[in-house]
Amino acid sequence: MIQDIYPHKFNNQYDPAKEAKPDSPIITFKGRDLLLKGETHLPVCSDLEVQDKPVYLFNVDGVDYYYILPPEEAPSGMTYRRMRDVRYDERIDQVLTFTVMTGYQLVRWYKDNVYCGTCGSRTEHSKTERALSCPSCGRLIYPRIIPAVIVGITNGDEIILTKYAGRDINYYALVAGFTEIGETLEETVEREVMEEVGLKVKNIRYYKSQPWGVADDILAGFFCEVDGDTTIKMDESELKVAQWTKREDIILQPDNFSLTNEMMTVFKEGREK
Ligand SMILES: [Zn+2]
Repeated sequence: MIQDIYPHKFNNQYDPAKEAKPDSPIITFKGRDLLLKGETHLPVCSDLEVQDKPVYLFNVDGVDYYYILPPEEAPSGMTYRRMRDVRYDERIDQVLTFTVMTGYQLVRWYKDNVYCGTCGSRTEHSKTERALSCPSCGRLIYPRIIPAVIVGITNGDEIILTKYAGRDINYYALVAGFTEIGETLEETVEREVMEEVGLKVKNIRYYKSQPWGVADDILAGFFCEVDGDTTIKMDESELKVAQWTKREDIILQPDNFSLTNEMMTVFKEGREK
């Protein structure tokens, strides 16, 4: 999965005393587009006109990464690239892909919380922790992480594979959805399965989780078994395909980054028990 970067090490401990150096890599986005030097490397501080103090993000393998406001136009020799193109660019290794996906989450959080949502005052960086604080009303704002589930619904040697409606990505996936207010993760599993494919499930078992920075998610994977009628009633507003698929017929995704793909692989190889 994308976060499995061992022996590389991601360290998210916040240190307000850190100061960017000329060779510190910069993660910055214009909208959803990442600024890259050439097409495959992050720019460093000395490549850019830096006006405000760069914001420390995290450390990977002993290297500190920082954020600055994005330049309106990509400077000479640099490009803005869509995150999806970065993900599927084979010249960019998994460690950097994970780094920029996680950076995207933090950068957006900083950008979206320049003003306090309670009183409208300009927020300040906390001196002690990764938080933004409001000098007027005292509100403390922390990065929000959104829980969501991915569900492998099985019936003996078959699993339900789906394709999302209205997206140009055409790979098979599993039923998935966000947790709603007042719900446990297990209840999210039951509700999403009922909404998307119209089935009841039992024997819900937690599998693994995955941070997914481009959507602010923490994904929790579950396997479960269909309970009773196996006839799929597909929600056509969410899905264009939902079908029972035998283990040997599962077509995997083109990379090993997603929890979805790992769960499909596990079931294909009969290791989901
Ligand atoms: Zn406030």
